[in-house]
Amino acid sequence: MAVPQRRTSKARKRLRRTHFKLSAKGLVACPHCGEMIQPHKVCPFCGYYNGKPIVVKKNKGANAAPAKTDKKANKKDEKKTDEKKK
Ligand SMILES: [Zn+2]
Repeated sequence: MAVPQRRTSKARKRLRRTHFKLSAKGLVACPHCGEMIQPHKVCPFCGYYNGKPIVVKKNKGANAAPAKTDKKANKKDEKKTDEKKK
């Protein structure tokens, strides 16, 4: 069996490993929502593929919370406008 004659130095090892890197995947814009997505895959943002809804997303959790705050903000704005009228 072949045995290395000498230990690979830190510099040699690190120079070799400079070529170990990840390449960026090609992304395309979703024709439905415009987000950058992987080609030939269902859009993870809107759930559309080939112009049809494949994955139906439910509006729960993180998406529902901002809507409530918006309603509260609107109510506050209404109150402010009422006060101004008086
Ligand atoms: Zn999309």
